[in-house]
Amino acid sequence: MKVFILTLGCPKNIVDSERLAGQLLSEGHEILPEPEGADLIILNTCAFISEAEEEAKNYIKRLVKIAPVAAIGCLPARRPRARRVYGPAPRETDAILALAGRIFRDPDEGTRLLDPYPYAYLKVAEGCSRRCSFCVIPLIRGRLRSRRKDDLLEEARALVELGKKEIILVAQETTQFGRDTGERLEDLLAALDRIEGDFWLRLMYIHPGGMTRSLASTLASLDHLVPYIHMPVQHLSDRVLRAMGRAGGERAVRRSLSLIRKYLPDAFLRTEVMVGFPGETDEDFRSLADGIASGLFQRVAVFPFYRERGSRAWAMKPLSRETISERYAEAQNLARALHIRVQKGLVGKELRLLVDEPGLARTVYDAPEVDFSVRIPKGLAPGNFLKARISSVDGEGDLEAVIS
Ligand code: SF4
Repeated sequence: MKVFILTLGCPKNIVDSERLAGQLLSEGHEILPEPEGADLIILNTCAFISEAEEEAKNYIKRLVKIAPVAAIGCLPARRPRARRVYGPAPRETDAILALAGRIFRDPDEGTRLLDPYPYAYLKVAEGCSRRCSFCVIPLIRGRLRSRRKDDLLEEARALVELGKKEIILVAQETTQFGRDTGERLEDLLAALDRIEGDFWLRLMYIHPGGMTRSLASTLASLDHLVPYIHMPVQHLSDRVLRAMGRAGGERAVRRSLSLIRKYLPDAFLRTEVMVGFPGETDEDFRSLADGIASGLFQRVAVFPFYRERGSRAWAMKPLSRETISERYAEAQNLARALHIRVQKGLVGKELRLLVDEPGLARTVYDAPEVDFSVRIPKGLAPGNFLKARISSVDGEGDLEAVIS
């Protein structure tokens, strides 16, 4: 059967799609690069907010005009009674949905068919045992299930041998890795760092409450780790953080920031913040806005509060739409100005870049898909590192480089 898989949402979904594709290939199915000509389109969905659900439904409406569609991933997990198959699907579809369900639940199931990019995500755990009040992910993905360190090492070694130049550790929250199995993230990182080869290691999805002195000093000791930390802080006001159910509140955020600055002084810090949470006062918002403007972080993604049914925040009295929109717009403007300032600071510097695709590369300060790119001459082959001097920055913060 000819199958096309389209992935929405976060890198964790990308890994699941790669595992499903690998498994289907080994069972004799053909994986197509385009939906045209497919017997079945599998849509791996995101549903952590209602907007993402709407996006998935819109994709289904468009794709079903090309071929039957089977929805997998977060949408059916969040809405178990919703329809999963659209159009006259082939008879193998039920078996594929069952396989997708096993992959969704079990982070060890399936062999990956990797996408062609020079980076690969390494999903170290599935699920989340934290209970942030705005978040429905633990309801969708379940409690934390860490993978075993040895299996992850074997997978990472294979990825490097296959030519991947960047291994990116992801999970719903990476610092929880091993809490259910008795293993330690520090040990996993140190072991990954001992893999031979020229590759970057990147750690994403750190909860500030999980940034300990031991983790910070381990990060500082790694040769392959890029100077980049992805730590969604969500807010800087203690009151809001406590209402969000963020363990440790503002103290944990400030402590994690000072640990990072002490042990990784040159690292770029990427964060995500949420504005307009129920009960957020002008003063709370100002402390967040001032934090963004003051350059505590180098990359900031801003999200408005979404009231999600099933989350604890659903029962809280929301702020008015106008207030949320105004604060969202202001925080986004501050983040944009920050990015231009930070990116201008890179102009004139000679940096090591990884070529992702013809004409496009990334610095160590940029994770794929969420941060900035560097335009380079088209003839340079993807999957190579190169030295280049940053020559300019455009209005979006993307860079241009000349090859040294
Ligand atoms: S750490 Fe909080 S925001 Fe992140 S997945 Fe877990 S519950 Fe959701």
